[in-house]
Amino acid sequence: SLFRGLKFLITVNDLHSLPDAGLEVAFAGRSNAGKSSAINTLANHTRLAFVSKTPGRTQHINYFEFGAGRHLVDLPGYGYAEVPASVRAHWEKLLGQYLIGRERLIGLVLIMDARRPLTERDWRMLEWFRPTGKPVHCLLTKADKLTNQEKVKTLRAVQAEFAGDPLITVQLFSSLKKQGVEETEKVVGAWFDA
Ligand code: GDP
Repeated sequence: SLFRGLKFLITVNDLHSLPDAGLEVAFAGRSNAGKSSAINTLANHTRLAFVSKTPGRTQHINYFEFGAGRHLVDLPGYGYAEVPASVRAHWEKLLGQYLIGRERLIGLVLIMDARRPLTERDWRMLEWFRPTGKPVHCLLTKADKLTNQEKVKTLRAVQAEFAGDPLITVQLFSSLKKQGVEETEKVVGAWFDA
């Protein structure tokens, strides 16, 4: 399966240093949303993507390979409150440039905490990316923190925001309970196979 073979390749400090090879999917999300945990869970690996104890301190881009010219770009988490506003703005601008202009990018996986999805910054990412016409898959993670009723309600509410847009899909995910892995595999796998 796609994610099980995921291998870490390199870390770069700016988006211009990303290797120019093959195709890639990007994982983005607010700092602390659970992005590193999700990548580790998908890869069935405990420490492939580093789960930081000091979120937002380092703004590194981790570059992974699924194999056969297929890559995963783990983008720096955005919105970390303790990073100076000027630094945050700089990074967000670079993220925007990447999302808008990267030709090898075939799809975006947007990680959001299921307890507070679609923050202002998440919308900004979506607004940058949507005009490209490429697909977005939203993972509402930490779903284990919601009751079953809340899960259904949250999933429906986020789906409703994108009703009628076939390019945006949404699912629940939990790294703690390892739930949602197959659904993510299916969606991201289909992007590469398209
Ligand atoms: P990142 O900054 O987006 O990469 O977030 P991390 O993956 O480092 O996770 C941030 C915090 O949320 C850590 O304390 C994780 O243990 C916790 N976390 C991540 N995913 C889940 C999940 O699915 N369920 C629960 N309960 N906690 C999670």
